[in-house]
Amino acid sequence: EKEAALAAIPVDGDSPTIFDKIIKKEIPSTIVYEDDKVLAFRDISPQAPTHILVIPKVKDGLTGLSKAEERHVEILGRLLYVAKLVAKQEKLDDGYRVVINDGKNGCQSVYHIHVHVIGGRQMNWPPG
Ligand code: ADP
Repeated sequence: EKEAALAAIPVDGDSPTIFDKIIKKEIPSTIVYEDDKVLAFRDISPQAPTHILVIPKVKDGLTGLSKAEERHVEILGRLLYVAKLVAKQEKLDDGYRVVINDGKNGCQSVYHIHVHVIGGRQMNWPPG
């Protein structure tokens, strides 16, 4: 509880985002997976038949992948594992794409790390 309270104090570049409101259920979202550490919900602007975002409930400075530190290794692994779980739940048996956009050049728009799970159609490579 103390840890969560400390993690909720914004530091530079670490202000609350819309995802905090989704975590607190202050704004609606379609949740497809939830545990004590991770939340997964449908993207409001889906880029494919299935488009889910997987996020940590406590950001702990992880505004984006580029801010990752050794202490984040466990949650980073969990985000990828949950990406796999939701892909399976969504029956993306023919494959899917997992994306983390980082910073300006990565077209990141929400600064609370999130893993996109995108599928249900053929993807193209390279991405735009
Ligand atoms: P981009 O906006 O370029 O995809 P990000 O990788 O930061 O950049 O992705 C943020 C994602 O969050 C977007 O796909 C956007 O559609 C999604 N999003 C923003 N607001 C909401 C919301 N209220 N509910 C669900 N998804 C949201």
